[in-house]
Amino acid sequence: MGIVVGVDFDNTLLNYDDVFFHRALDLGLINDSAVLHKRQLRERIRLLPDGELLWQQIQAYVYTKGIVQAHLINGVKEFFISCCREDVRTFIVSHKTMYAPVAPNQINLRERALDWMKANGFFDRMGMGLNITQVYFESTRKEKIERIKVLGCTHFIDDLQEVFLEDEFPSGVKKVLYSPDLEKPVRGDIVVADSWRKIHECVFN
Ligand SMILES: [Mg+2]
Repeated sequence: MGIVVGVDFDNTLLNYDDVFFHRALDLGLINDSAVLHKRQLRERIRLLPDGELLWQQIQAYVYTKGIVQAHLINGVKEFFISCCREDVRTFIVSHKTMYAPVAPNQINLRERALDWMKANGFFDRMGMGLNITQVYFESTRKEKIERIKVLGCTHFIDDLQEVFLEDEFPSGVKKVLYSPDLEKPVRGDIVVADSWRKIHECVFN
């Protein structure tokens, strides 16, 4: 049976850390004495008055206007090129609503994500070689898992363990957690990879 690789989008293919940090800086919520990664920054912002709302507003900015500054994670391009060469089928399956819950400007998050993919060469025939029909946006985590089943994924790569821990997640799918800081897997069937080079080994060996 052939390999079918499903891949999450946000924080798996692209890194928003700098975008979050600079937005918080621009809003005067933090100073630049230390560069904070997304998780640390979220903890810091949530401690502020109305912190939860502030965090949602930052997210709404980052995933709409800010996405153009997000960078493609190292090794992603090489991974998709290998998949193309080896005839490994790939799909991008993302839990992404059409609009942010707190977004007065109502920018379509899915269109912005596709624009980012175009700008970063995902659909270049001579590069990563994906087709837009390989990209799925789902409105809920349950629908995302249903899509993974329907597509017949043999592997799924995600930065959120919670996705793998859902009861509905198909047990036969190889679960690869992308975690640059090597988060501890909650269950034995979750493989942790801190780089796309490791993910590459995991899928091709
Ligand atoms: Mg993600």
